[in-house]
Amino acid sequence: MTVHFHEEDLPAGVLAPGPIAVDSETMGLITPRDRLCVVQISDGKGDEHLVRFAAGSDYAAPNLRAVLADPERLKLYHFGRFDIAAIKYYLGVVAAPVYCTKIASRLIRTYTDRHGLKELVRELLGQDISKQQQSSDWGNPTLTDAQKDYAASDVRFLHALRTELNKRLEREGRMELAQACFDFLPHRAELDLAGWPEIDIFSHM
Ligand code: MN
Repeated sequence: MTVHFHEEDLPAGVLAPGPIAVDSETMGLITPRDRLCVVQISDGKGDEHLVRFAAGSDYAAPNLRAVLADPERLKLYHFGRFDIAAIKYYLGVVAAPVYCTKIASRLIRTYTDRHGLKELVRELLGQDISKQQQSSDWGNPTLTDAQKDYAASDVRFLHALRTELNKRLEREGRMELAQACFDFLPHRAELDLAGWPEIDIFSHM
């Protein structure tokens, strides 16, 4: 199990075929203001890859873009809405098709309102992850070991979570509804970028 650190792009051919877990770290929560600093990727085989972008980057990253835009590769996220918008805005690709562990959790764990990644990993996988570095300076030219560990842990468990969540979605007959939500997610991210970030267009009011 190794965390690989790369600058400005993913090396070619480092990922096994199949679904990839994807996460991103930014300067903050307002996508056009707060630049994309790190994209994390895991193929679920035990290693994580961190791609860091420097201030002033042109975000060319041809290998990373190709992997993210590959229609044959399912992308696993936790709260993908944010990552998909940031990736679209900075890297110019729609990183789909999509699976989102937060949406799956909301559809199946209706006995709780706790759908954070830490809580999901604890309940479904019995493991403990730290969210201590979540709000830290991801634009720093030198990321700390704690930041790298944290960034990697955000993609480390998404394959296993999907397996567990799918069992429950199947059991309760909500797989189709979940899939429809995943298919809509890139469009929800597009609405965020286009000016409807907090407005629910399905709402009567
Ligand atoms: Mn993260």
